Amino acid sequence: MPDAQMTAKRAIVVSAKAAAGGSWYYGFACRGCGGDIAVFDDKSNGDKPPAATTGHFAVTCLHCADAGTYEATEMKSFQGK
Ligand SMILES: [Zn+2]
Repeated sequence: MPDAQMTAKRAIVVSAKAAAGGSWYYGFACRGCGGDIAVFDDKSNGDKPPAATTGHFAVTCLHCADAGTYEATEMKSFQGK
Protein backbone atom coordinates (compact mmCIF):
# COMPACT_ATOMS: atom_id res chain seq x y z
CA MET A 1 0.00 0.00 0.00
CA PRO A 2 1.60 3.30 -0.98
CA ASP A 3 1.75 6.10 1.55
CA ALA A 4 0.56 3.76 4.28
CA GLN A 5 1.98 5.69 7.20
CA MET A 6 0.50 9.04 6.23
CA THR A 7 -2.78 7.42 5.35
CA ALA A 8 -3.00 5.86 8.78
CA LYS A 9 -2.42 9.21 10.47
CA ARG A 10 -5.28 10.82 8.61
CA ALA A 11 -7.66 7.93 8.94
CA ILE A 12 -10.86 8.21 10.90
CA VAL A 13 -10.94 5.36 13.38
CA VAL A 14 -14.30 3.62 13.34
CA SER A 15 -15.62 0.52 15.08
CA ALA A 16 -16.94 -2.50 13.29
CA LYS A 17 -20.34 -3.67 14.43
CA ALA A 18 -21.89 -7.08 14.43
CA ALA A 19 -24.02 -7.31 11.29
CA ALA A 20 -27.51 -8.61 11.98
CA GLY A 21 -28.94 -10.86 9.31
CA GLY A 22 -31.27 -8.99 6.99
CA SER A 23 -30.13 -5.52 8.06
CA TRP A 24 -28.21 -3.22 5.71
CA TYR A 25 -24.86 -1.67 6.45
CA TYR A 26 -22.18 0.48 4.93
CA GLY A 27 -18.73 -0.95 5.34
CA PHE A 28 -15.79 -2.58 3.69
CA ALA A 29 -14.61 -5.91 2.36
CA CYS A 30 -11.89 -7.06 4.74
CA ARG A 31 -8.44 -7.32 3.16
CA GLY A 32 -7.55 -10.05 5.61
CA CYS A 33 -10.41 -12.51 5.19
CA GLY A 34 -12.66 -10.99 2.52
CA GLY A 35 -15.57 -10.85 4.93
CA ASP A 36 -17.93 -7.90 5.25
CA ILE A 37 -17.03 -5.31 7.88
CA ALA A 38 -20.15 -3.40 8.95
CA VAL A 39 -19.40 0.15 10.10
CA PHE A 40 -22.54 2.25 9.68
CA ASP A 41 -26.22 1.42 9.48
CA ASP A 42 -27.62 1.82 5.97
CA LYS A 43 -31.08 3.15 6.68
CA SER A 44 -31.85 3.29 2.96
CA ASN A 45 -31.70 -0.54 2.88
CA GLY A 46 -29.29 -0.55 -0.03
CA ASP A 47 -30.98 2.20 -2.05
CA LYS A 48 -28.38 4.91 -1.54
CA PRO A 49 -24.63 4.68 -2.07
CA PRO A 50 -22.36 5.62 0.83
CA ALA A 51 -22.31 9.38 1.43
CA ALA A 52 -18.59 9.65 2.15
CA THR A 53 -16.44 9.94 -0.98
CA THR A 54 -13.18 11.17 0.52
CA GLY A 55 -11.08 10.27 3.52
CA HIS A 56 -9.84 7.07 5.04
CA PHE A 57 -11.26 4.81 7.67
CA ALA A 58 -9.28 2.61 10.04
CA VAL A 59 -11.26 -0.37 11.24
CA THR A 60 -10.54 -3.76 12.73
CA CYS A 61 -12.34 -6.75 11.26
CA LEU A 62 -14.56 -8.65 13.69
CA HIS A 63 -14.00 -11.87 11.77
CA CYS A 64 -10.20 -12.09 11.61
CA ALA A 65 -9.02 -9.11 13.73
CA ASP A 66 -7.17 -7.64 10.72
CA ALA A 67 -6.61 -3.90 11.32
CA GLY A 68 -6.99 -2.21 7.96
CA THR A 69 -7.25 1.27 6.53
CA TYR A 70 -9.76 1.69 3.74
CA GLU A 71 -10.53 4.57 1.41
CA ALA A 72 -13.98 6.08 1.41
CA THR A 73 -14.30 5.04 -2.23
CA GLU A 74 -14.01 1.42 -1.10
CA MET A 75 -17.08 1.71 1.10
CA LYS A 76 -19.97 -0.41 -0.03
CA SER A 77 -23.50 -1.17 1.01
CA PHE A 78 -24.34 -4.75 1.91
CA GLN A 79 -26.92 -6.81 3.74
CA GLY A 80 -26.03 -8.80 6.82
CA LYS A 81 -26.16 -12.55 6.39
ZN1 LIG B 1 -11.33 -10.05 8.21
